[in-house]
Amino acid sequence: MSVLVVGSVALDSVETPFGKAEDVLGGSATFFAASASHLTKVSVVGVVGSDFPLEQLEPLKKRGVDFSGLEQAEGNSFRWRGRYRHDLNSAETLETQLGVFSHFSPKIPDKLRSRPFVFLANIDPRLQLDVVRQVAKPKLVACDTMNFWIQSRRPDIIELLNHVDLMTLNDGEARQLTEKSNLVQAAQWIMARGPRHVIIKKGEHGAFMFSSNSIFFAPAFPLENVFDPTGAGDAFAGGFIGYLAATGDLSEANMRRAVICGSAMGSFAVERFSIDRLMTVTRPEIDQRMTEMRRLVTFEEDVPA
Ligand code: AMP
Repeated sequence: MSVLVVGSVALDSVETPFGKAEDVLGGSATFFAASASHLTKVSVVGVVGSDFPLEQLEPLKKRGVDFSGLEQAEGNSFRWRGRYRHDLNSAETLETQLGVFSHFSPKIPDKLRSRPFVFLANIDPRLQLDVVRQVAKPKLVACDTMNFWIQSRRPDIIELLNHVDLMTLNDGEARQLTEKSNLVQAAQWIMARGPRHVIIKKGEHGAFMFSSNSIFFAPAFPLENVFDPTGAGDAFAGGFIGYLAATGDLSEANMRRAVICGSAMGSFAVERFSIDRLMTVTRPEIDQRMTEMRRLVTFEEDVPA
């Protein structure tokens, strides 16, 4: 089954302890699509400015990503500038330029309105709401957000919760949105407002998936070298939703497998700048990493001698 994603398609400038990149391909929808395209067919809805180097999307198109819902508008593209210091778990946003996103009104092409899986990647929650009103009863609608939008548009995010089945966010964002310091309480607060599931990501410390009657925990893959954490969350979401769409199975057991796939995809994203590693990773490498993740948490059987 196929996935529709709406989110930012951006130019990122990133500084990590290991190097710098200027105006490289980024954005929540871009990372999501790069990741999910390994598992299923993805269509992107968003906007870029007249300055956007469209040729940089070619490798994604070659992977089958459909950009027919990506508009190009007069003006500047969305730009994000961020820095990671020693703690690679949290990005410091130095600058956010919304550019053409500040006047964007998403129009979902007719052929994309009935996509069974919809991901509202991190973007203005008013745009996420606009999209959710245009789609026809998907099997699953999930959303993400971040501190930038929680600060400025909290009421819209709360309204959005009414319309989604699942929310992904990181621990800091969950605390900020819910004003609860305890993550179990934060997840309950979110689920009380609509979603049946909440995934709270904790960077290198893994991720929790909360459902009404269960909690599942997946570790992050312990990498020897993390190069640039940008996009890990969106790559996680791409792996997770992509896996669900590819299998079409929303049982608890399969959702747990999807979380492991998300965790594996997030771990690839951080090995290089931009979507570079997500473009070279192969399906056997993804399967291998999922197997390694299983070994990581197995303690009763299959333990290597
Ligand atoms: P993450 O997966 O959370 O690391 O997301 C990284 C991506 O989010 C970057 O490529 C940015 O271009 C994008 N981004 C940063 N700030 C925003 C924002 N306020 N709205 C939408 N996308 C953003």
